[in-house]
Amino acid sequence: MAAISISLVQGNGERIGYLDEMASRLTSTGRGTNFGDWIAVLTETRDSRRIRQLSEKIAFVEILRFLDENAAYESLKSLKKARDDKSHGRGPRGQRALAKAFQEQIINLESFYSAIDFLTDYSLIHVEDVRSDTLRQVTEYSYRPLTGDHPLVPVRHDGRALTVVEKNSLYLLGKKGQLVLLRPLLQRLECPECGHIATFYLDNYDEKSGMCDLKSMEHGHTLKDKGITLPLRQIGLLR
Ligand SMILES: [Zn+2]
Repeated sequence: MAAISISLVQGNGERIGYLDEMASRLTSTGRGTNFGDWIAVLTETRDSRRIRQLSEKIAFVEILRFLDENAAYESLKSLKKARDDKSHGRGPRGQRALAKAFQEQIINLESFYSAIDFLTDYSLIHVEDVRSDTLRQVTEYSYRPLTGDHPLVPVRHDGRALTVVEKNSLYLLGKKGQLVLLRPLLQRLECPECGHIATFYLDNYDEKSGMCDLKSMEHGHTLKDKGITLPLRQIGLLR
C-alpha cells in the first residue's frame, strides 16, 4: 500500500516528505527500511493537506483516502504496536494473555483487510511486451495479471494506453485502464536463492559500493542490485 501511495502521489507531482528522512537514514547510517517507515508513509498520505487536495483530482482516490476511516487507522496502529511489542520482547506473557491478544489482532487484521477490500477492483500487472504506435498515439501492451497465488498466469494481449508504457515493469491497473508505474519501489525479478519470480522492494543500501539489497515480499529472500540505485535516487528514496 505504501509503495502504491508513493507512486501515485509522486507520479502526480506531489511529494511524500517522509522519504527525505528515509533517504538520509538509508544512505548515511546503513539502517534499512522497516515496517514503521511504510506506516509513516501511509500516515503522511492520510494527514497531508496537499495530498488531500490531490486526492480530489485524481482517480484511485480510495487508495489515498482509505485510512480516513477511523476503524482502519486504529486497526493498523494496533497491529503495528503489537508487532513492535513482539519484536522488542514486550509482548503478552502466558497462555491466556497470549490467546486474548491473538484474538484482538485477528479482529484488527480482518478490519484492516475489509478497509482495503477496494483493491480487488485493481490489478497488479507485469508488462511483458509493448507496441507503440506514434501515428495513432497509442501504446498497446501485453501483460500478466498477478492476482492470486499462482505465479504462472497467462499473458493477456488487450492492454491499451495513451501514455508511455515500460516493458518488464510492474503497474497497478485501474478500473478504467489507468496505469500507475510501481518501479522502482517494486520490481519483479527472478530470485537467485530459490529461482522463483518474486516481487522485490528496497531493504537496505550500502553507500560505499552503491549496492542495494532488495528483499522479496513473498518469501523474504534477498538479492543485490546496483542498477536500481539511480532510479531510487530519482524518486527520493536514496540520496
Ligand atoms: Zn527466493
